Amino acid sequence: MSSLLSGKTALVTGASSGLGARFATVLAAAGAHVVLAARRQDALDALAAQLRAAGGNAETRALDVTDSASVRAVVEATPGIDILVNNAGISIEKLVAEVTEDDYDAVMDTNLKGVWLMAQAVGRQMIARQQGGKIVNISSVLGQMVLTRLSVYAMAKAGVNQMTRALALEWARHDIEVNAIAPGYIRTEINRAFFDTEIGRKLIDRMLRRRVGEPEDLDAALLLLCGPGSRFITGSVLTVDDGQVLKGI
Ligand code: NAD
Repeated sequence: MSSLLSGKTALVTGASSGLGARFATVLAAAGAHVVLAARRQDALDALAAQLRAAGGNAETRALDVTDSASVRAVVEATPGIDILVNNAGISIEKLVAEVTEDDYDAVMDTNLKGVWLMAQAVGRQMIARQQGGKIVNISSVLGQMVLTRLSVYAMAKAGVNQMTRALALEWARHDIEVNAIAPGYIRTEINRAFFDTEIGRKLIDRMLRRRVGEPEDLDAALLLLCGPGSRFITGSVLTVDDGQVLKGI
């Protein structure tokens, strides 16, 4: 029996941990040939071995999304990309007055420029190949709202939302759907230590349902935006946040 994504090649950035590892696992289980990319090749290799042991089709690439030469090399080494999950991201929690220029550059280079470099390189390949494609950018509820200590992160994610619309507009005629998922707080490596602090516990108490999500809470949105069901969806930012933005945090 053919699965939802059989015959498709999906490149997932930041696949070595957290949401990216989950996305890669879900896409492999849906039949895609998954290419796991991130800086930590050892962590990627371990996950790819797990996916293959479970009957999936997975390989790995070392990638730094902040480095355009690295982005170009990975995309060139991966012909026939049908799906890009543009997930790599970092967060630095500091009050505005304490953010250094290096902090600013690190967050913007990874979360905004890195997403752009990946989308542009993969989009160029998809256009040349003339088979269409799906690009799913991983944004955040902080693209729509702000929280203290996360100013630069929020600015970058707001940029990702606008990038999603801009790419969708230009690439619609190439049959490339470009959408974003804006997750609310999901427990992963990026925030696990933070949620164990007093500030983190207070934050959870302020959420609409006083809980954070788990990576699997994004599975349905991912499969919708990577699969044939989203043929008529482009330029959308799909918020998956348990209602966190409705109440504010
Ligand atoms: P994570 O720290 O577990 O994973 C981030 C991944 O990105 C890692 O694999 C890391 O190696 C990779 N990465 C970082 N910089 C990179 C670079 N320069 N080049 C290549 N790879 C790089 O965090 P996560 O929670 O899984 O976050 C994944 C994405 O989801 C991020 O874009 C994040 O902003 C977004 N997000 C997370 C949450 C959440 O609550 N966890 C909520 C909203 C959005």
